[in-house]
Amino acid sequence: MYKTLSGREVSDALLINIKRRVEKLERKPMLGIVLVGSDPASQVYVNMKVKKAATAGVKTQLHRLPESIKEEELLKLVDHLNKDKEVDGFIVQAPLPGHIDGTKIIEAIKTEKDVDGWTSANMGAIFLNAKNKDIFVPATPAGVMCILEYYSVPIEGKHAVVVGRSNVVGKPLAMLLLSKNATVTICHSKTPDISKYTKEADIVVAAAGVPQMIKGSMIKKGAYVIDVGTTKVGHKVVGDVLFDEVIKKAHCSPVPGGVGPMTVAMLINNTLEAAERRK
Ligand code: NAP
Repeated sequence: MYKTLSGREVSDALLINIKRRVEKLERKPMLGIVLVGSDPASQVYVNMKVKKAATAGVKTQLHRLPESIKEEELLKLVDHLNKDKEVDGFIVQAPLPGHIDGTKIIEAIKTEKDVDGWTSANMGAIFLNAKNKDIFVPATPAGVMCILEYYSVPIEGKHAVVVGRSNVVGKPLAMLLLSKNATVTICHSKTPDISKYTKEADIVVAAAGVPQMIKGSMIKKGAYVIDVGTTKVGHKVVGDVLFDEVIKKAHCSPVPGGVGPMTVAMLINNTLEAAERRK
C-alpha cells in the first residue's frame, strides 16, 4: 500500500536523460576525480561514479594520489584542473587524510567547476535561495529533492524534519526544503527525543549515520521517509531507517537503492550542466 521510493528507478531515468543531452554536445563532458589514499569506501564510491558516468556518455579522468601527498601538491593539482580546458568539472573525494585541510582544498576549486557544490560560493547561494542558474547544488541533497519531485511528494506547507546537520547533507537539504516552502525542523545529536518531531512530520529525511535509528513508531501514518544514511555493518550497508517497520505505515526509500544511486546521478548531471554552460 505504501510506496517504496526507489532512487535506483529515478537515477536510471535521469541517466537516460543525461545520455540524450550528452549526445547533442560536440564533445563529451569530462568529470575529473581526485582520490587521495586507499580508503575502501572511497574506492567503491569512485568506481561507481566512473562506471555510471560511462553509461551516460560522460568521460572521467581519475587522479589517484598517495595518502602521504602534501597539501601544496594537492593544491597544485586543483589549480591544474581549474585551468584544464578538457575538464568541465571535478571533485576531490572525501574524506581526505588528517594532515590536509579539506576546507582549503575545496575552497581552491573554481565555483564553475565545483560539481560537488561544496565551495562556500555554491553553498552560500543555496542559503541565499539565489535564483542564479550557474550554481551547483550538492549531489546528495539534490538527489533527495529529485526523489521527492519524481514521486510528486507535496512539500509546500508541509512539515519536514531533517535528522542531521552536516554541511554537505543536513544543512543544505533543510534550505532546499525551506525554499520549497516546507516548515523545516533540523534535529541533531543534541536534540532530546527526536521522535517528538518525526511523529509530527509529513516528510522525514534521516541523515545521521546511525543504523536503523528511525523506527516505525517514530513516523506518522502516510508520511514520506527518505533514508540518506549508509553505515557498513558487517558486510551489509545499513540505512538510518528501519525500513521493514516504516514501509508498513509510510512511503520510504530503501538502502541500498535509494539516495546512493541518486547522489551519483546528480554529480553526473552537474558535470553535464557544467559542460552545457561552457558551450
Ligand atoms: P556527518 O557529517 O557525520 O553528520 C551526521 C549528522 O547526524 C550530525 O549533524 C550529527 O549531529 C547527527 N547525528 C549523529 N548521531 C545522531 C543521533 N543519534 N540523533 C540525531 N542526530 C544525530 O554525516 P553526513 O556526511 O551528513 O552523512 C550522514 C549519513 O549519510 C552517513 O551515514 C553517510 O554515510 C550518509 N551519506 C550517504 C550518501 C549517499 O550518497 N547515500 C551521501 C552522503 C552521506 P551533530 O551535528 O550534533 O554531531
